[in-house]
Formats: sequence, C-alpha cells, structure tokens
Amino acid sequence: MSIFDKFADIRNTLAELSANGQNPLEVRFDEINSPVEGMVGGKRVLLFGTSNYLGLTFDADCIEAGVHMLRESGTGTTGSRIANGTYTGHASLESQLANFYGKRTAMVFSTGYQANLGLISALAGREDHLFIDADSHASIYDACRLSSAEVIRFRHNDADDLARRIARLKDKPGCRIIVTEGIYSMLGDTAPLREIAAVKRESGSYLIVDEAHSMGVLGARGRGQCEAAGVEADVDFVVGTFSKSLGAMGGFAVSDLEGFDLLRVAARPYMFTASLPPSIVATVSAALHRIQKDPSLGARVRANGLRLYRGLQKAGFLLGPQPNPVVAVKMPDRECAVTFWKYLLAEGVYLNLALPPATPGSLALLRSSVNAQHTDEQIDCAIAAITRVGVRLGLIKPAAPDPRVNHPEKLALPAE
Ligand code: PMP
Repeated sequence: MSIFDKFADIRNTLAELSANGQNPLEVRFDEINSPVEGMVGGKRVLLFGTSNYLGLTFDADCIEAGVHMLRESGTGTTGSRIANGTYTGHASLESQLANFYGKRTAMVFSTGYQANLGLISALAGREDHLFIDADSHASIYDACRLSSAEVIRFRHNDADDLARRIARLKDKPGCRIIVTEGIYSMLGDTAPLREIAAVKRESGSYLIVDEAHSMGVLGARGRGQCEAAGVEADVDFVVGTFSKSLGAMGGFAVSDLEGFDLLRVAARPYMFTASLPPSIVATVSAALHRIQKDPSLGARVRANGLRLYRGLQKAGFLLGPQPNPVVAVKMPDRECAVTFWKYLLAEGVYLNLALPPATPGSLALLRSSVNAQHTDEQIDCAIAAITRVGVRLGLIKPAAPDPRVNHPEKLALPAE
C-alpha cells in the first residue's frame, strides 16, 4: 500500500495520455518569443491560451522597470510584510490600485489565488453565510474551506436563485456575503452584475467580485465588469490578479469600507507568506500605468475576442454563450477534446485543454484566449487551423471555399 494509491485513477489517465502523446502537462515551451508566439519542439506556435489579455509580458517599460528594481532592491523580500516590513513599492502600488478603482484602500497579495483565500476566509466568520456562484474558481472554493462560515452555492449566474437562497435564511444572525466573478474563466460568460447588485441591496448583503479575467478588458477605464455594468458603488470588494492583464504575478483586493485594513492582521494568506519581490511590484505598477494611459488596449482585446468568436461560430462550432476574450469551444467528450487539442498543437496553435472537474457542467472544452497583440491575420490563422481540425474530426462540416485559398500565405504560420 502506498500513500499515492488514492491517485490511481489520475495516474492511469495521465499514463494513457502520455502513451498517446497527448498529455498537456508534458508540453515544453523551448522559448516564449512574444505575447503571441512561442516554440514547442523546435516548431513555432501561435499562443492562444495565455490569459495575457493585454499582451504586456514583453512591454518595454514594464521590463525596464523590473530590471531597474532588481538591481536596486535585489531579488526578493524573503518574508512577509508583517515580519519583514512594507517596501515603498508595495505601498505605492496599493495607492495606485486604490486610485485606479476610485476606492479608499487596496491590499496587495502574493497571488490572485491568495487574494481570494485571504479576503474571503477572513471576512466570513463562524456566524456568517457565504453565497458563491456554482461555477466559482477553485480559489473561491478553497477560500470557503478555509473559512468557518456556512457556504451556500447558487445556480451559475442566476440572481433569482441567489435571492431565494438568501431569503431562506430569514432571521438567522450573521452577515451575508455574495461572491461572483466578472468574466468566468471557462466559458467566457459575464456575471449579471446589475441583477446580483439588486439582490445585494435588497438583502443587505456584502458583495465581492473577482475581476481576474475582466480587469483591463471590460469597462471604459478597464476596471472590469463592475464598471461595464455600472454597479461599482454596490460592490464592497473587488478582487483581481496581476497574472493576466498586468502580465506578471500577484493579486489584490480593493474596498471603500472603513476597517478593510484590519485584514492585514487577520487574513492568514496575506500574513504568513512572503510579499511580492520589488521587481514584480515595479512591472505591475508600470503595467497599471500603461492601462490608464492607453484605453485602446482594452478595445483591441475585446475586438479580437469578437473576431475569434464570430469566426468559430461561423465555422459551426458550439461556443460559450457570449463573445469575450475567453472563447471556449465545446467538445462532445473528453477523448475528442484531447485529440483535437493535440492535432491543433501539430497545426501550430496552442490553447488550453479544459476537462472536468475544472469545467462547469462536466464539459470538455478547448479554451482559448486572445490578447490585444494578436493581429487579425493570426486570429484568422487560428480560426482556419481549428476549422481544419474540426472538419477532420467530423465535428463540423467543411465550409464553403475560402476566397483566400488562392493566397495560402495569408493562412500560413509565420516562417520559423
Ligand atoms: N480568480 C480567478 C477567477 C482565476 O481564474 C484565477 C486564475 N486562473 C485566480 C483567481 C488566481 O489568480 P492567480 O493566478 O494570480 O493566482
């Protein structure tokens, strides 16, 4: 008997995938050349699964700010802020974030995962009640496990179901805390925040919105779905990550509520882990500056999402419910998804294979995400490759002849 026996099913699945050369965990990027191109097995691939929404990972100003700070302040803080202290960069990034959102206070965490873990587990005490969307990210589910509050799931994006479940508590003591996301990471759908905010107001609950996939993407100023839906005043806490639109690593929460700062000595995932290295803080700060200076980045990623969505929809694929920079193609089953993903990589397009239990409704998905740096040609190239594989696997019918067939270079990958 081994301590790993409990993972027998997972072990068998991985072994099967590896035997067929289909294990996504075995993909090795020889190089990442830009926000949209990399090399796998000596072959150039287009990157369509990075969540690097604004394509800022190679931004010259961000790199310069990071390199400068590496030389100035060293490689790491080697401890938490409660033990090793706050650096000027941490404090100024927090005021920059608070200003960006027009809120009183921001707290920086070492990852977005920890931001949810810290905020939710600290806010929700023993007497309180957490209402989370059934399709919530793992970090929200894990936060619930860390908190001592009662946890109630409501049907995905269903404000009426949420209202019913809150009403059932009647006069029970404790705070009601609703947790939702801006854009959902698997199907790319947005939360009905206007309806959810109305439930929050009527029930006197608190509202947390995780904007991990919508910061920099939605809203006139890039403040996410809360801004796009016009409900910022109703949202008590916005959570986000630096690992997507800001191209780095880390997470944050912002709030207008007096007392929010107390979480610095109550949220264990904030207190008992090393703070972000100054170089990362500097790149994030530069990226946030860039978003504020250049709203065209958000417009570009939204337009790119629409182009990919419309192209795949026209080809006949089943997609998530609405166009956004996350575009999910629904597969009939796991086997087909795995084969599709492998053929696509051979075609030079990398995207994410998303399988249960990480997916809503046990769906097998090919999850792609565009970024602001993708060109129209690259998006069309990805649509053409996905379409070719879809036809080959019998998922869609061959399309009417494409007028560009006389110009195959337009559909080809760039030369290596
Ligand atoms: N929230 C959501 C909705 C996410 O999708 C993710 C990451 N995929 C996180 C939080 C965690 O962010 P991070 O990668 O910064 O830990």
